Amino acid sequence: MKKIKKVTIHAGHNPSGKIACGASDLLDESTEARYITRKVIKLLRKNGIKAVNCTVDNGTSQSDVLHKICTKCNAVADADLHISIHFNAGRDDRKGDGKTGGTEVLLTENVSDKGDIAKRICNQMAKLGFTNRGVKTNRNLYFLNHTKAPAILIETCFVDDKDDYMLYTSDRDAVAKAVVKAVLNHNKGC
Ligand SMILES: [Zn+2]
Repeated sequence: MKKIKKVTIHAGHNPSGKIACGASDLLDESTEARYITRKVIKLLRKNGIKAVNCTVDNGTSQSDVLHKICTKCNAVADADLHISIHFNAGRDDRKGDGKTGGTEVLLTENVSDKGDIAKRICNQMAKLGFTNRGVKTNRNLYFLNHTKAPAILIETCFVDDKDDYMLYTSDRDAVAKAVVKAVLNHNKGC
């Protein structure tokens, strides 16, 4: 396995309030994804891993946002991994039923370094109490299909589930730490 020395990371949508911003409910996807992105970058750098923020704030449409994100990602020389931060929607559980929707990590094929890191992220998030929805293959996502280095897309948790909301807002930084731990543990195993 390859050591991850340099990553790109970005929030998956335009800023809150603009066209093509993310899902907004109990949590605002665009805002939270930016928070997690910044925090992950800080923590990775502290641990000697290069991290480049490829978030796009000026997309004119969803496809323009995605196109610009991929252009930024692919302009970063020697990136070992591209990470996209998203939040999921569709649970429709605003009262809370005691069960989180949880975390899933998407990739085009569950192999090699990206497969290992994806699994590790799900496991680290499960340690925090987020339901482990697992690693899922998806070959229809623009970001995953148009980036040069191995790429993963994290659906952190659900914006419309009270249980996710409570757990997430109780310690946002723990979520960023979970992502960083996954990368560091991967590197330990190399
Ligand atoms: Zn999203």
